[in-house]
Amino acid sequence: MQFASIPNTNNFQTKLCQAVSNNTLAHALLIASNPGGSALPLALALASYLHCENRSEQDSCGQCSSCQKMQKGIHPDVAYTFPISSTDQIKGKDVICHNFLGEWRNFIQQSPFGESTHWAVHYGGDKKQLNIPREESRQIIKNLSLKSFEGKFKVLIIWLPEFLHQSAGNALLKIIEEPPSGTFILLASHNYQAILTTILSRLQQFHVPLVTHEELSNYLALNYPTYSKDKVATATSLGAPNIQKAILALDKSETNQTVPFCQQWLRLCYVKKMDQLVTLADQFHKCSKMVQKQHLTYLLFMIRNALITPYIKMQFASEEETTFIQNFSKNIDAYQIDCAANLINSHYYQLERNAHAKILFLNLSIAIAEMFRTT
Ligand SMILES: [Zn+2]
Repeated sequence: MQFASIPNTNNFQTKLCQAVSNNTLAHALLIASNPGGSALPLALALASYLHCENRSEQDSCGQCSSCQKMQKGIHPDVAYTFPISSTDQIKGKDVICHNFLGEWRNFIQQSPFGESTHWAVHYGGDKKQLNIPREESRQIIKNLSLKSFEGKFKVLIIWLPEFLHQSAGNALLKIIEEPPSGTFILLASHNYQAILTTILSRLQQFHVPLVTHEELSNYLALNYPTYSKDKVATATSLGAPNIQKAILALDKSETNQTVPFCQQWLRLCYVKKMDQLVTLADQFHKCSKMVQKQHLTYLLFMIRNALITPYIKMQFASEEETTFIQNFSKNIDAYQIDCAANLINSHYYQLERNAHAKILFLNLSIAIAEMFRTT
């Protein structure tokens, strides 16, 4: 992974690269992003930069043997710790990161922006609670006490340290405070507030800003050139600021139902076809939680754009979406848009707290249809 292939490195890249060149890089770093953001890619890019045999001022070369080993996740001086759980094949004492390394290497090549849920599905542990167990802290301490194989640095990447079991975290305090010389510990987090405060206070912190629509759209266009402009625009609006979600939206048929579903729903609310809204609530109920949330997020995107579209040209939407929203905006006013956005927001909040999906979506449908009727 190179910094150049990450959509929002911002000024981190310069800061981190300069710190490496000046030998002032902290030995324990937190790189924090939103879920689906760039925390892990940045940690991987930094580890590549540290080991690269031919680095420039701004990036690793991507070509040398170190860079190639990093791309495959097999560099002998880079260790990985990540949340795990038992699976049908791996149980009991065998539940340590080492036994998941094959899956992990695939995951960081295929889905470096992925969230814990994507990782769990990837290795087949999605029915269990993930954590980084105490045993893992012993493995880390043992591993970091060994000399580097290639004589340069040792790097440990802890992905999602918020999953560290408290006893594992406590066992790591000393080594995080004073890693062996030539060792860098990079913690890549999606929820840094949940990290044990005793660990957090020992880290130099970098907080990755949310990716903008423009950065995300450029990233998708560059890295997924076989998709049409319209598809990239829709995936951007469906995913942002979650990079992984946008990538998945490019070709997942389920998530691509979001645009027609939401357009149909708004039309039916407007004309108050309650029988058909009940059918849509049934469909909503059958979607996965991720898609349910995506529907509501996309509705907010449409509503927000209905407000601004008379004044500003819409970005990050396909022509078909733009036409729909332009036509819709002619039939509603700013007050209705504000009411609709508040209603969708409050229902999203309830969905996150596990409200019954069908009842919730039907309530939202009735409230919005009623609001259109009375205003
Ligand atoms: Zn290189």
